[in-house]
Amino acid sequence: MKQKEKDNKINSNEIDEKRLIEEFKKLVSIDAISFQEREMADYLKDKLQELGFTVTEDDAGKHYNSNTGNLFAFKKGSIKGKPILFSAHMDTVEPGLNKKAIVLEDGKIISDGSTILGADDVSGIAAILEAVCVLTENQKEHRDIEVFFPIAEEVYLKGSEVFDHSVIQAKDAYVLDLCGPIGTAALQAPSLISFTLEVIGKASHAGFAPEEGVNSIQTMSSIISQIKQGHVDHETTVNIGIIEGGTATNIVSDFCKVRGEIRSYRHEKAMEQLEIIEKIAKQETDKLGATYQLKENVECYAYETSKESSVVTRYEKACKELQIPVHLTKTFGGSDNNNLVRNGIEGIVIACGMEQVHSCKEYTNVDQLVQSTKLLLKLMESEI
Ligand SMILES: [Zn+2]
Repeated sequence: MKQKEKDNKINSNEIDEKRLIEEFKKLVSIDAISFQEREMADYLKDKLQELGFTVTEDDAGKHYNSNTGNLFAFKKGSIKGKPILFSAHMDTVEPGLNKKAIVLEDGKIISDGSTILGADDVSGIAAILEAVCVLTENQKEHRDIEVFFPIAEEVYLKGSEVFDHSVIQAKDAYVLDLCGPIGTAALQAPSLISFTLEVIGKASHAGFAPEEGVNSIQTMSSIISQIKQGHVDHETTVNIGIIEGGTATNIVSDFCKVRGEIRSYRHEKAMEQLEIIEKIAKQETDKLGATYQLKENVECYAYETSKESSVVTRYEKACKELQIPVHLTKTFGGSDNNNLVRNGIEGIVIACGMEQVHSCKEYTNVDQLVQSTKLLLKLMESEI
């Protein structure tokens, strides 16, 4: 082995840093905005097949007028035990077209500033591919491995929502989709309910006959003023993020609409807030002669994975062996793990090297990607 090649291998783990970074850059260069993951899925299908996986693609895209489904893959191992599942989503947020990864001298990896980087969630995908590559080329013993690459995670987990989870044999899942140093794992995530509230009033000329109208904007404003927003308790938030209504300054507006969301670590508390909003809407529209319509959608369900579960203890052991400090935490965001847990799979969300996500300042760095891959290797090789 040439010296240069040797430098690219990290200790006995045989991780090829150069290959890992090249893969990362390649994945970043593929456009994969939510519901437009076709190119990414095709690329990953080939990659997984090359690595010895059986790959299937479901028809998730059909539900959303897209031509790409969720990828699910299985690779047989020689270590006994249930398969272990590793997941990272294929899609990115916007602006995400023509992305380019720039590796700086200190190892920091950034975009050119005009797009996101897409480390969310390409850093997870790259680490999974490199870890399996190392297993394969070194013929290392490993567990049965399942890989789940869903579409449309960034739009309220739409891909995993329609996935047939019964094809998964694993009982434990690692979802690579979290910021923070490697070693950080989220065991808890909230329910998230999005809602649309419409107030219907009555139009009338604002100058000639205002008394004949019912002002929907005014009604809505008295509703909003009574809805407690922000932290409504220590584990629940409410936010109204969008408002629209009215057609002209000289017309008493007959229509106003707001959209918002509720999050809580307790599902029943999120539902309670929704009831409160409805009660206020009813009371105010009754009072002012308008009507209302409230529509909600439960985007994901809260969960808490036990610290004693094997998915956590295996993770802690792997980190310890690599001398990576473990930080068990919770997230206030949803991820595909919400849908996995809802379908009876015990999962945690783990940090995989991504910072300032969903912004053009998003970055990762070489060390984090290497460390993340090492950790995955340990998990794949785990006997417990
Ligand atoms: Zn993500």
